[in-house]
Amino acid sequence: MTIQKIANMSEDSYIYVDVRSKIAYQHGHIANAVHWNGSDNIIFPKNKKIIVYCTYGKNSIPLVEKLKKRGYDVYNLSGGYREWLIHNSEELSNEEINRYNRQIILEQIGIEGQLKLKNASVLIIGAGGLGSPVALYLAGAGVGTIGIMDADNVSISNLQRQIIHNTENIGLNKAESAKLALRKLNDKITVKAYPYFLTAENAERIISEYDFIIDATDNFETKFLINDACVLLKKPFCHAGIMHFEGQVMTYVPEEYPCYRCIFEEIPESETIPNCSQAGIIGAVAGIVGSIQALEAIKYILGIGELLTGKIFIIDGLSMKTRIAEFTVKNKKCKVCGENPLIKNIQDNAEEYTVNVCKLQ
Ligand SMILES: [Zn+2]
Repeated sequence: MTIQKIANMSEDSYIYVDVRSKIAYQHGHIANAVHWNGSDNIIFPKNKKIIVYCTYGKNSIPLVEKLKKRGYDVYNLSGGYREWLIHNSEELSNEEINRYNRQIILEQIGIEGQLKLKNASVLIIGAGGLGSPVALYLAGAGVGTIGIMDADNVSISNLQRQIIHNTENIGLNKAESAKLALRKLNDKITVKAYPYFLTAENAERIISEYDFIIDATDNFETKFLINDACVLLKKPFCHAGIMHFEGQVMTYVPEEYPCYRCIFEEIPESETIPNCSQAGIIGAVAGIVGSIQALEAIKYILGIGELLTGKIFIIDGLSMKTRIAEFTVKNKKCKVCGENPLIKNIQDNAEEYTVNVCKLQ
């Protein structure tokens, strides 16, 4: 029996029987389908058509034959569960279902979750060591719209850690280079390149277009700018920072959680922090931390799991020690989200965001 034929039948005239493994059934099945436990003694209602299915339509045939002999009005579902998935996901093509199959079969995702990802938009600020894994994993996962922003050009010293770029693209703008890589990985999504830096002038306009923001920058001025703009626009974002073998990640979701400024308060004096050419970085640490940021964005979009809100996740790649520092309450004195906020719009605070330590990498 084909899925098209079943679609025209009255819903209470048939039942689905799933012959796949219990785990496969638990990870997703046709609505109201009964799981067959392998027993020959199982009894189905005689007044309904029994439609048996497996993954692709072949493994269900033996049960169909058995039930026929027992007098049931029984049919095999042509194409199995996979065909049903394709038919029941109007907004996902056959190719998309194949492409994302390994995550669609997850109980927490399914077709519904995949559609959420498809309809979501994420802005990645910085196409460097952190932005590279974030962009690749979000594009791979099928986030429908990805914005990527960076004014710098690809240089040979970037390639040790900025894995989205390659030797051929040396000299090209990083946002454009990243866009080329993402198009090659997944041409089913929309990628917008912003070949300039985030500033007090453009922050609100661009950030307001996206559902989730990734801070993949390496300077405090832009980190505070992203934080303040996201707090004022009520946008969730994931912050990360890396240096040497260490990395940290935190996620902000408006409005009950502490923001980045609640915890770090002010931009540190430039004499106390090394500039980019002095601060060494291991590419693999950027890869780990950026991958965590991608996962935070995916969990936020899907509404699953636990986010790093009110927490800073810290990893030391040398000892492989990780810890989570908790910041459960907002800072009442926070200049952007406290009781008497001083920063009420981004433009008025533009001076604080002027990058003087180093450029985004
Ligand atoms: Zn705050």
